[in-house]
Amino acid sequence: MTETQSGRVSILEVGPRDGLQNEPTPIDTATKLAFIEALAASGLGRIEATAFVHPHAVPQLADAAAVARGLPVDDSIEYSALVPNRTGLRRAIDAGVRRVAVFTAASETFARRNINMSIAESLAEFERVVADATGQGLTVRGYLSTCFVCPYEGEIAPDRVRAVASRLMDLGVDEIAISDTIGAAVPTDIVACLGEVLQDVPVERVALHLHDTYGTALANVCAALPLGITRFDASAGGLGGCPYAPGAAGNLATEDLVYLLERMGIATGVSLEGVFRASTIVANALGRRLPGKQYNRLRAAGGDAEPPA
Ligand code: MG
Repeated sequence: MTETQSGRVSILEVGPRDGLQNEPTPIDTATKLAFIEALAASGLGRIEATAFVHPHAVPQLADAAAVARGLPVDDSIEYSALVPNRTGLRRAIDAGVRRVAVFTAASETFARRNINMSIAESLAEFERVVADATGQGLTVRGYLSTCFVCPYEGEIAPDRVRAVASRLMDLGVDEIAISDTIGAAVPTDIVACLGEVLQDVPVERVALHLHDTYGTALANVCAALPLGITRFDASAGGLGGCPYAPGAAGNLATEDLVYLLERMGIATGVSLEGVFRASTIVANALGRRLPGKQYNRLRAAGGDAEPPA
């Protein structure tokens, strides 16, 4: 029996990293930590806190070490950080990070434009990153970007995703995030892609990372559940734009995912109102409303809900 059939899904909150990375308004470290603490208080057990990327490439996350060092000490929460290479890994380990994520793409052009490496080069680098990380007792997740549609190459064939996912697994990652980077996938894409990937990757190791650019993220979750997928990424309030679709909605909103799953009888362990309180902290700091449906429903119901003291 899969976890989904027995009614449990695990959400990875990516708001502090994927949600914030493209935000031009600088958020100070203390506010990020308040945001993360509120996310943890909502019941989210897995939180991607930051990324150890080059500060010039992503100024918003230049305080990665300070964020990692400031995380609440709580063994029941799994905090992680993105690392693009061995330099990032060293910085992450120095800051006390115990779980890292590496990222490559299913699209060759996207890999070259986004990380300045071919897919093969990125896998060669990650082989060393994963070996170094696991050798020091860390665990590693692998992101696979542009699994459905690439802003440069268009449609990505499912067997191509399967091939790169399979190679990532061979490197020793314990989870692969099949990612709809531009948020263009529809349920038939999910079924086609996962149908290939699940032939090589055990279902409990597959996570789905969805964006809601075209409003299809929740429909895609519903397509993935019957396949036994139990791991979903989401971002508080739907924080996180898509750099290839300016003005578009961001990541799948955590509150919307929690609402859907709980209404379907699938336990998440997460308080929707708790996530909303976390979203409010970051929305106030950004000075704007976030796109999530439940976020906006609760905001309208409660007026300008203040973050908890
Ligand atoms: Mg993303």
